[in-house]
This record gives sequence, C-alpha cells and structure tokens, in this order.
Amino acid sequence: MKNLLFLLLCTISGIAAGPDLPHLREDYDYIIIGAGTAGGYLAHRLSTADSKKSVLLLETGPNTLSSGGINEMENPNLFSLVPGNFVENVAQSRTNYLYTIAPQAELENRVLTYHRGKGLGGTSTINYMAWVKGYKGDYDEWAHIADDAEFSGTEGWERIKQLESFDPTGLPASYSRYAVPDLSNHGNSGTIHNSLPKNPIPGLATFIDGCIEAGIPKSLDINSGKNIGVGIAQMAIFKGARVSSATQCLNSEGDLGAGLRKQSNLHIKVETKVERVIFEGLKAVGVQVVGGRIYRAKREVIISAGFIDSPKLLLLSGIGPKEDLEILNIKVVSDSPNVGKNMLDHSTILLDPIFKQDLQVPTSNSFWQEPDHVLWEKYKWAHSYNSGAGEGMGEMTRFGGSSAIAFIKFTPEEREQWPEWEALTTEERARFLDPDRPDTEIFYFLGYRPPGKVIPMGSEQNSYARLFLLQQNNLSRGSISLKSADPAEQPLIDPRYFSHPYDVRIAVEAVKAAVKIFKTKALSACFVGMEFVGATEDPPFIRDCPEREEKNHEKGKLTGGFYTNGIDLTDDAEIEKWLRKKGLGQGYHGMGTCRMGAAGDPLRVVDSGGRVVGVEGLRVADTSVIPVVMNNHPQVSAYLVADVIADSILRDV
Ligand SMILES: Cc1cc2nc3c(=O)[nH]c(=O)nc-3n(C[C@H](O)[C@H](O)[C@H](O)COP(=O)(O)OP(=O)(O)OC[C@H]3O[C@@H](n4cnc5c(N)ncnc54)[C@H](O)[C@@H]3O)c2cc1C
Repeated sequence: MKNLLFLLLCTISGIAAGPDLPHLREDYDYIIIGAGTAGGYLAHRLSTADSKKSVLLLETGPNTLSSGGINEMENPNLFSLVPGNFVENVAQSRTNYLYTIAPQAELENRVLTYHRGKGLGGTSTINYMAWVKGYKGDYDEWAHIADDAEFSGTEGWERIKQLESFDPTGLPASYSRYAVPDLSNHGNSGTIHNSLPKNPIPGLATFIDGCIEAGIPKSLDINSGKNIGVGIAQMAIFKGARVSSATQCLNSEGDLGAGLRKQSNLHIKVETKVERVIFEGLKAVGVQVVGGRIYRAKREVIISAGFIDSPKLLLLSGIGPKEDLEILNIKVVSDSPNVGKNMLDHSTILLDPIFKQDLQVPTSNSFWQEPDHVLWEKYKWAHSYNSGAGEGMGEMTRFGGSSAIAFIKFTPEEREQWPEWEALTTEERARFLDPDRPDTEIFYFLGYRPPGKVIPMGSEQNSYARLFLLQQNNLSRGSISLKSADPAEQPLIDPRYFSHPYDVRIAVEAVKAAVKIFKTKALSACFVGMEFVGATEDPPFIRDCPEREEKNHEKGKLTGGFYTNGIDLTDDAEIEKWLRKKGLGQGYHGMGTCRMGAAGDPLRVVDSGGRVVGVEGLRVADTSVIPVVMNNHPQVSAYLVADVIADSILRDV
C-alpha cells in the first residue's frame, strides 16, 4: 500500500529542472571562492547591492538545490532538506570532504574524520541546523581584538538580528513553560530563518526537568545573549525544511525555491575548484581553477573556502610563513607567518542515555530499524513540502528538528579543587570566572540507530537519546599546513585536542555533569543507563555500536540502578583514560586559521574588513577569520562575518 502511494506521489510531482547557468564571462568585479555558509550569503549581499557589479561564485562541490518534484531520482537534492536526513547528508562524499585529521598526540594518536560540507551551501547543507548565537561577551572580545565594533555584543548582535528571521510559533502548548522567547532578542525579517520545534522529540521535557533538578537554571530563550541555562534549541529550519545559505541565498524563489537562482550579475559555477589566486605584483587579479582556466577580478577576490581550505588557498597562492613556502618551492608573494595557525575548535564527547523502555514513538530504535518506514516518512515530508502550504511534515522533522541545549558553568568552589585551575594565568582565571561565560554545553537529541546496525545486546527494547558534550572556550590551539604544493592534496589538519591540560579537566567534569543530570529523580525514572559511545571514526553515526556491555546493562536493570558500560565514574583518572582512548572527538566547529586582528596584532592574517594583510585586492570571509572560540554554534558567526565584510567591500567601492 505504501509503495503504491510512493508511486502515486512520484507521478503527480513535476520533473526536476536542471540548473541553467548563464554564459560565463572571463572577468568579473568580484570573484568569491566557495559557495558555503559565508560565501553563499556574501554572493547574495554583493550581487543584490548593485546590479551593475558582476559577481562570480566558484564552488568545488555540486549544486545542492532542490529543483521541484519529489521523485528522488530526478530531484536527489530534495531529501537533503529533510531535517531527519542529516545523518545521510553527512555520510555522502558527494557533499562532504570527509577529511581526516593528523594523529592526535594526546588522544593515543587516534586519527579522526573531519566533516566539511561541499557544494552550494557548504557546511550549512550538512550541519545539525542548531541556531545558537551564543554569548554576547564573546562578540565583545572579538570586536576588541579586531578593533571594530561591528562584531560586538551590541552592533554585531543587531546585525545578526537583521540577517535572521525567527519564527516563535508552533511549539505545542504543553512545552510553553520551557520556551518563552523574548522577541527583542530576535530578528523577524532577515534572509536566514530559524524556529522552535513544532513536534518535539520524546524525553525533551524530561531532560530539561532533570537539568533544572541538577541545578542548571532554566533558559526560556536560548538565544538571549547570555547562554547559561537549559532550554529548547532554536533550529535553522523553516517550513519544516533545512535552512542553508544555498536555500536562502542562491535559490531561484527565495525560501523554498526551485533550483539555481537566475540573476544577470551573479554567475554561479559549481564543480569548479580554485587552485590558486593569481597576483600581479602584490595585487590579486584573478583565480586559476583546476584545468588551468583563469577568471579575472576587476575589483577583488574573496576567499570563503572555510577554515581548512581558506588557509590552504592562501598558502598555495604564496601567502604564508616564508620558510614553509620555500621548502615547498612555492613563490612567496607575502610572508605572513600566521596563515593556518591558531586553529580553534570545540571538542565533542558522545554519550547515549538509554530510555528504560521503548516509548513506542516512531522515532525510536524501531523506526530506524524499518527502512521502508523511514522512506515512507521521507516521501510524506516531501509531498507536504512540495504542496501549496509548503510545510514539510511528519516524523522526519522531529528527528533532527528538535533538541534541548544546556550551557553549564562550574562554580568557583569546584574550580578550586582542580590543579589545572591553579596553573592558569590570572587573566585566564578572570575570564572563566565571568558568571555569564559557560564552561561546556550539553546538546540533547534523539538517538540514531541506522537500519541494519547493531544495538547492544539486552537493550533492544530501549530507545536511545544522544548527548553531544561540546566543550567551550577550548585553550588548545591547532593548525592547518600544506603537505605539498599539489592543490589536489588534502592539507595537514591538526586540531591538537587536549594539548592544553585545562581542556582535559573541563572534559572530565563535563562527563560527570552529564551523568549527574541523568541521576536526578526526573530522569532516573525514565532512563536505565548511559552508553559511552566514544568518538566515531568513519564516518560518525553510520557505524556499528562498538559497546556490548550486556552484563552492565543487566546489572543496571536488576538493581534499578544506572549503568555506564564499564567506566568508573567515581574516578577522574578512569574517565580521562576513556576520553583519551576513545571518548574525545572532533568539534566540527573549526575557526581562527586566518585570524582577524587590529593593526599591530602579531597574530593577525586579515584586518576587520577581511583584507589579507600585505597584499591588495584579496579578502577572506568565513569562519577562518574568527579570533575567539565562540560559545555558540558557528554558522551564525559565518553569516555575521559575511555580512560585515560585505558592507566593508561595498563601502570601498
Ligand atoms: C557535522 C557538522 C555539524 C554541524 N552542526 C552545526 C550546527 O548545528 N549549528 C552550527 O551553527 N554549526 C554547525 N556546524 C558548523 C558550521 O556549519 C560551520 O562552522 C559553518 O557552516 C562554516 O561556514 P564557512 O562559510 O566558514 O565554511 P563552509 O560552509 O564549509 O564553506 C566553504 C565552501 O568553500 C568551498 N570550497 C573549498 N575550497 C574550495 C576551492 N578551492 N574552490 C572552490 N570552492 C571551495 C567548499 O566546498 C564549501 O562549499 C556543524 C559542522 C559539521 C561538520
């Protein structure tokens, strides 16, 4: 019956129209490299500000835009907009670089996969869609480092409000005590939409109750600018569908869209990888793409290739530490010692709390064990999305679409117990004692067991939730460097997780804090235990469960207690051992590798307008310029960067 309905839905749908690229010229006013989160938004800003200025947007990856119709074969991009499809989006090499990082010295030399989006929208097409603006104090620090108030907690915050559009409606009434957004914190007419969940996942309210019982304050608006507290996450989802820079900025019909935008002064060229920027003397005059073709820029070249590929492109183009470039026989255009240095990231720990019993909701394990059911829900979503109302509906908006978020701060008394606290500088201690600066974040969403994958023995009847413990304010610093002068070769990505001892301490305390939440009355009534999942290698989520701690599970069940598959939570050293061996993983929130700074700042690569110091006509505009580890999820900052730099470019005309 379901299959019949699929066929019917496919038949009544339209046929996808392919992208219709305008005839490409050889020179443009502006060339933007990378149509990612920042690049897509920047192209939109520059091309709509002045129709007489031409913009060329070059992107390595494919066109990711849906182009009408719900036949998967004819419109494969449609399903990437289903919120619950995010795992599949991540798993595809078509839209993910699936980079690997250097063996991590402090993590027993583990080599981990590092995801980065490829194609229109960049990483905003594969991310988890959380819209978390973060702590205003971080924006003030950023403004201070850049000596530019445009990024501050007042002006930067106002900008974010102008570029976003928040929909506060649709949260079921039974959840209204958990979210009462203060609309003065939000914009309502910008290009980038976000919303509260219309169909919350099971356990969301219980998780929040548990956090409150554990002493975490309730946050009725997680985007108030002071992020300590627990509340319902706001997500980059609009009309039941993923919001990316592609859907909002490069689409032919704005919000929902039906394929690539046709605009006479904006040319978008996909599957075109830039190999280097071309200089005449110190002036950037164009770019060379794979195959040797050159496009010329009459005004400026802007690199928006993300925190890995932007420094890579600068280095390949002769801008970087002189000695490093000379070793690789790259002609030095400008000696810029900090290109690729100062990599900032959060780090992540995955824990899976296990519900006592299957809650019999379709998004639990049973749902994922039935591929037909999943497919059915996708088609249901697609049909409702493509119909007149345009609201994607069903279970697939639930999974991926609703989460809770807790930003936690440890007390001064707790800190006094830690030797790593004593070892910090006075300045660092003062910074972390700021009562509004969180130490870590716990992100709660529904567990995912892909069809056909193994569930630990003895827990088949249980449902999993998943926690991401996202460490904030990390003090470890990594780097991006070239392995060779070959543009086809992946650069060396070395986040150096745990290279600062304070990060180790916070990670251990974060695990204990998460377990404490699940031992509260509110939660222990629903949960049987915690599976320590560990960082995932290849690729995350799509993997067998490595832990088969049936005995532990049985013990938990028999005693009515809380099991933790084998890790002794009373022993910090034991937790640390697990984190190093398995538990700590990639944050996917990389930043800082083309650091922004004020004149005289020895660490800077670009100024506050994104201009690359030491050359002319070249800017960087993406998360690589962010100089501070933001207590947020960084897509918001990517849009802010693009917005500020767009204005700077337009002012310079
Ligand atoms: C799995 C995952 C989950 C995440 N979840 C969230 C979340 O829930 N919320 C959140 O806020 N953030 C999240 N993030 C992080 C966030 O999405 C990114 O930090 C942000 O989108 C980065 O934006 P960007 O513009 O700097 O780079 P990107 O969006 O990565 O854009 C770079 C673009 O440049 C292109 N490019 C690169 N090199 C070249 C070249 N040589 N020539 C042409 N094009 C090139 C790339 O293909 C890409 O399209 C997540 C990230 C990942 C990986």
